[in-house]
This record gives sequence, C-alpha cells and structure tokens, in this order.
Amino acid sequence: MDFHCHLDLYPDARKVYVEASDRVEFVWLVTTSPRAFAATSKVLLASEKIFISPGLHPEVADKKCGELEMLLSQMELYSGVGEVGLDGSSRYKQHFELQKNIFQSVLQHSVNIGGRVLSIHSRSAAKEVLGLLESHPGYGTAVLHWFTDSPSQLSRAKEMGCWFSVGPAMLTSANGRKLAGQMPRDRVVSESDGPFARIRGVPVMPWEAANVAVELAEIWGLQLEEVLQLLRVNGLRLTRLLTDSGEMLGNGH
Ligand SMILES: [Zn+2]
Repeated sequence: MDFHCHLDLYPDARKVYVEASDRVEFVWLVTTSPRAFAATSKVLLASEKIFISPGLHPEVADKKCGELEMLLSQMELYSGVGEVGLDGSSRYKQHFELQKNIFQSVLQHSVNIGGRVLSIHSRSAAKEVLGLLESHPGYGTAVLHWFTDSPSQLSRAKEMGCWFSVGPAMLTSANGRKLAGQMPRDRVVSESDGPFARIRGVPVMPWEAANVAVELAEIWGLQLEEVLQLLRVNGLRLTRLLTDSGEMLGNGH
C-alpha cells in the first residue's frame, strides 16, 4: 500500500497508474493544487484501489493561493485531503504566513464539515503544524508524511494521535531511521512519495513503498513477516477512514 504518491507527476503517469492498479492494494494519490486535482481526476480515474485527493502543497502556496476557495469546496466531497501543510525550509519560508493562512483555512473547514483525513507535509515546520492541529480540535486524522523533525516533536505528534507515512527514501538517512524507531507501530503506514522521492537518483515507484518493511524490521527489531502484517493492518484501518466516511466522522479528535 502507498499512502502518499504523486502518481500524476511520473513521466508516464498512465502506465504507472495501470501497473500500480495491478500490483498495489491501495494508493493514495495526493495532488499539489486544486486545479491539478481536477485535471488528474479526469485523466486517471479514482477506483477502489486508487484514492485521489484534492490538496494545495505548501511549496506552491504563493502561486496557487488563488485556488483556496476551490480546495475548500472540493474538500466537501472527499474524505481525504492532501497534500497540505507547511514548509519552513529556507527556499519556501518567505511565504510562511501565506502557507499558514491556507493550512488554517483547510483545518477550520475540516472541523466545519465533520473532520477529514489529511496527508501533511511538515518540513522544517513540525512545531507550527502540530500547533495548528492542536488549535483545531475535530479536524479529523493527521497523517504526517516523511516526518523529519526532532524526537521531541515526534513524541508530541504521537501523543496527539497522529499517523505517520514512511517511505524507503526517508529511511536512507540516519535521522529518518532514528525517528522511525520511535514511531507508534500501530500508526505507521508505507508511502512512496514518488516521483519526488528518489533512491540513487531513481524515483520510488508505488509498488516499492512496501520495501520499507525490510528497513522497519531491522529498526524495530521484528521479523519481516510481523512488520508486513503490521503495515497491512494499519493500512486497512487508514483505508477504512478514507473510504468510509461514517467511521471517519466518528474519529474526530
Ligand atoms: Zn509529497
């Protein structure tokens, strides 16, 4: 299962879509802007296996902020939202206030419409992301994707009930491995983050998200079979939150 994939952005997206439908049990296709979501949904159809969600990536906050209203109306029809969040790295922090306004609107709207499952980007901004989540009780379920912050922010996120999507590229770094070691094992799912995430220069494919189990087995000191089972059980629970709105609405926190 792949809980964070920019499937529409691979050079041959249709081919990847067909192969992923064949080889992967579930793909959460996150989009970077409301218009991209609308376009992608026409070309790559959502199916039982491929869940496509509207989003507004913080890296393009300045270019796409005019599409915020569109995102808020799209959110009413979908149980999942992503990619959303904040990016405080040097390249994007000049628009940090704008990013915060957008993310706050998304969270407030999630509260208003009964909670959503959010795939969240938090590069160099975990503290602010968690602060905003805390100030919007009832937003739904947060899935922190490729979490790279400090152990203290990680334990804060853990206490808040956040989920974590972890990919093979994240576990190539020492910090990524250390953080994965401290994640709540019942709230970790696999992701590819392809085609942005690369290993040795090659984009990670949706069906390679599952490879994360090998690394996690080593980090967690478990048998590979146990980790595969854990990721599957977690994945099925999260899939249910994404596809069964009744259960999702009952999960507000
Ligand atoms: Zn992403």
